[in-house]
Amino acid sequence: MVRVSGKEAKFRKHQNHCISKTIVESAKRTGRGIAIENLEGIRGRVTARGGDAQNRLSGWSFHQLAAFLSYKATLAGIPIVQVDPRNTSKTCSVCGHCERGNRKSQAEFVCKHCGFSAYADWNAARNIRALAVSCNAARTGQCRSGIRTPGS
Ligand SMILES: [Zn+2]
Repeated sequence: MVRVSGKEAKFRKHQNHCISKTIVESAKRTGRGIAIENLEGIRGRVTARGGDAQNRLSGWSFHQLAAFLSYKATLAGIPIVQVDPRNTSKTCSVCGHCERGNRKSQAEFVCKHCGFSAYADWNAARNIRALAVSCNAARTGQCRSGIRTPGS
C-alpha cells in the first residue's frame, strides 16, 4: 500500500481528471473508442492507453483514472472496453506470435518469428487496440460492460 499525502492525492486527482478529459476528447474527435488494460489485482506500475495518450501510473491512481475515464466516456457516448493485459507485451502485433523471448528488454520488442521490431510499449498498444476491436465485434457481455466505477 502506497501512502500519499493529502496534497499529493489532490494533485494526482487533478491530473487524472485532466488525463481522462484529454483521452475522451481525443477519442471523440477521432471517432474512436477507448481501450484500457484490465489490471484487476495487479499492483505496482501500470500503463493506461487510449487515443494518443499514454500514462504510467501507480495502482490506486490507475484505478482512479479508470473510474474517471469510464464516467466521462459514458457521458460522451464513447465505447470503452477492457482488454486482457496478460499477453499484450509479449505478442507480436504483426504476425501474432506469442513468446516471452520476443520481449528483448523492458523497452525493446523483437519478434522471434517474423523479426518485427518496435518499442515494446508501442507494440503492446497495437495489441490492445486489436484486442479491443475484436472485443467490440464479439459484443460479449464482459467487454460491453466496460470498466466498473466504484459503487456502480
Ligand atoms: Zn511477428
